[in-house]
Amino acid sequence: MNEILRQAQVKPEPCETLDPQDWSEFRAQAHRMLDDAIDYIANIRERPVWQPIPDEVRAKFRSGLPREGSALADVYREFTDNVVPFATGNVHPGFMGWVHGGGSAVGMLAEMLAASLNANLGGRDHMPIAVERQIVAWMRELFGFPEGASGIFVTGTSMANLLAVLVARTSALGTMARQHGIGNEGALLTAYTSKAAHGCISKAMDIAGFGSDGLRQIAVDGDHRIDVAALRRQIAIDRESGLKPFLVVGSAGTVDIGAIDDLAALSALCREEKLWFHVDGAFGALGILAPAIAPRLAGIENADSIGLDFHKWGQVPYDAGFLMVRDGEKHRQAFAAPAAYLRRETRGLAAGSPWPCDYGPDLSRGFRALKTWFTLKTYGTERLGAAMARTCALAKYLEARVLAEPQLELAAPVALNIVCFRYRAEDSDGINGEIVADVQESGIAAPSSTTLDGKLAIRAAIVNHRTDIADIDALVSAVLEFGARRSAKILTEAEVPPLAAH
Ligand SMILES: *Cc1c(COP(=O)(O)O)cnc(C)c1O
Repeated sequence: MNEILRQAQVKPEPCETLDPQDWSEFRAQAHRMLDDAIDYIANIRERPVWQPIPDEVRAKFRSGLPREGSALADVYREFTDNVVPFATGNVHPGFMGWVHGGGSAVGMLAEMLAASLNANLGGRDHMPIAVERQIVAWMRELFGFPEGASGIFVTGTSMANLLAVLVARTSALGTMARQHGIGNEGALLTAYTSKAAHGCISKAMDIAGFGSDGLRQIAVDGDHRIDVAALRRQIAIDRESGLKPFLVVGSAGTVDIGAIDDLAALSALCREEKLWFHVDGAFGALGILAPAIAPRLAGIENADSIGLDFHKWGQVPYDAGFLMVRDGEKHRQAFAAPAAYLRRETRGLAAGSPWPCDYGPDLSRGFRALKTWFTLKTYGTERLGAAMARTCALAKYLEARVLAEPQLELAAPVALNIVCFRYRAEDSDGINGEIVADVQESGIAAPSSTTLDGKLAIRAAIVNHRTDIADIDALVSAVLEFGARRSAKILTEAEVPPLAAH
């Protein structure tokens, strides 16, 4: 043996790992970093919501591949100088753009703890997988799904919706379609959603091989809910012409105004027509935690699958999307695949089958479940539900403020926690677009925009648990002020709005 080793000249270098040489120095630096991170959240109101990134910062930040290492403290300084001041701003209570969650201090700690374990949640028999399964069990309980229902963490609801389309596809065509492709029969499969549905559903149809033309976007009523009668008619027309309807996607909280489709009517229709019923509940589904919102989600318990985001209304840090499928076996049939190196055993680390990798395309997966588990356990679902209800109350307050201002008009009914409105002006689209950018650049608040009835509207989605009445008032004042200046052309294109006095 010694002779063999000598001849092969096998002699690794002495151990030099990537661990710190001096743990106490590392610990001191780490404590500084943690303190700063806590301060960032605790003192977030002292910062502008968002600020434009100066060209010098972008230029200074660009660099070649770092072949030589640097001291951790130096790298950290680059982060604090160049990255931290120019983040999206969704931790800030004045952030109301798109539908972004605010995160939490608890979630931040959980992310750090997850990183310390460096767990890979693709499979195998370890407790982190049990944490993910615990969340699945809680979601089953919450949505009244049966014991056999499966669930999996994914990046976000865009991915959850894609996986749902793929599960519905395999359910409609049989597992052989995974080998042969969707073929002639698959080309006839047709899905349905509303015109107000999120764009990721059309993208999912495209990626799943049906093409986005395979999705029918049904008209909505005055409240932006899918017109169920029109849906029924379209299904009949499509069957008549030889197409094969297979999937209906209902929205629990549309992205533009937060409308909730009549999920009970959709589930009844799907049962009658034998169609897969998926609910895009990206931000709205967790509204089930708020007693005032839950009744409006009636019917969601009958869905074949639900996609939702813990990182929006659930306040879990990004990213934490989730898919739940009523028939776990169908879910598995869409993704499970044999591989010699993923052999399952009944004992040892390779036990515990089925594994999360059997329920989606990912093999290596991070520990998203931990921050979700910490969030749900620490705050409890009642408090999280109350925070959601409060964002709806703030939306009602904003609605009242808009209605009370002669210069402002409401652009859509306030269904949940989203308020769409306009500054009244001749060049409405132009002025309102400028106002949104002005308010963002001022650092006072960060609304976004959307198009309703062909006209641009300012959109305030109140998702952050930190948002308060004063933040709503600040948004209204800023919109009125920039609106007045833009209308009077006091502010020219090139002028940068003054930064708020933070
Ligand atoms: C945010 C959202 C999505 C997309 O979810 P991601 O987590 O961003 O991928 C889909 N549908 C609706 C209704 C949404 O609000």
